[in-house]
Amino acid sequence: MVRVTTNDRRSALRAGAAFVTAGALAAGCTAHGVAHPAPATRRSAARAPAPRHHRAHPAQLTHGPRTRPRVALTFHGGGDPATARALLTEAERHDARVTVLAVGTWLDEHPDLARRILDGGHDLGNHTLHHLDINAMSEAGARAEITGCAQRLKRLTGSIGTWFRPSRAARASPLVERLAHDAGYPHVLSYDVDSLDSTSPGAEAVTRRVLGEIRNGSVVSLHFGYADTIAALPAVLEELGHRGLRAVTTTELLS
Ligand SMILES: [Zn+2]
Repeated sequence: MVRVTTNDRRSALRAGAAFVTAGALAAGCTAHGVAHPAPATRRSAARAPAPRHHRAHPAQLTHGPRTRPRVALTFHGGGDPATARALLTEAERHDARVTVLAVGTWLDEHPDLARRILDGGHDLGNHTLHHLDINAMSEAGARAEITGCAQRLKRLTGSIGTWFRPSRAARASPLVERLAHDAGYPHVLSYDVDSLDSTSPGAEAVTRRVLGEIRNGSVVSLHFGYADTIAALPAVLEELGHRGLRAVTTTELLS
């Protein structure tokens, strides 16, 4: 049971976003190999009001409003920095903005990328320090993974960023949700479209999958570090343009 404060419910309602119940799903960033997860969505409006004194849990967001032609392309920030630069440049060529959930050690190795991402008008968020299976870690270990990345973001950009995405899982466990909230992230950012690009299925398969599932409000999981993603992105962005779907930051999607 995920308890949510009135404020959290209000903010999520404003965002028109879906709550999902927290649960350890097998699918996720670099832990693929199972079918696209079917998130157990539940409308926040159907929830009983939670007393205000209860600890506030962040909502896990899988998508934004379905009523507006906007989507968020979200990238696992890791791997060869050349792929990151290529993908950012391609997005900008199409006037698209993306969200990068950065791994802390990746920022240590390529600190200039934090500025590069923000200077391009993109969102930058927390994807843990070492990209371990965070839902399986001890409380102290998981906390260190979240705060370690947050400290790096703060040092490099002056902000811990708005979004946290768990590593190696599509959803955060209730414990990880709470730890993310404690670290300053009001929402856990999940997704409703999994490109499966990190399984290297070929660029056409990535393109087909994303374009087959994306719709108003979708949050798409993608990765830096894979050649298929770079090869797929131009066709994806072009088709989004034809459909009138604008790729915006997650902040804008939920605004
Ligand atoms: Zn990841």
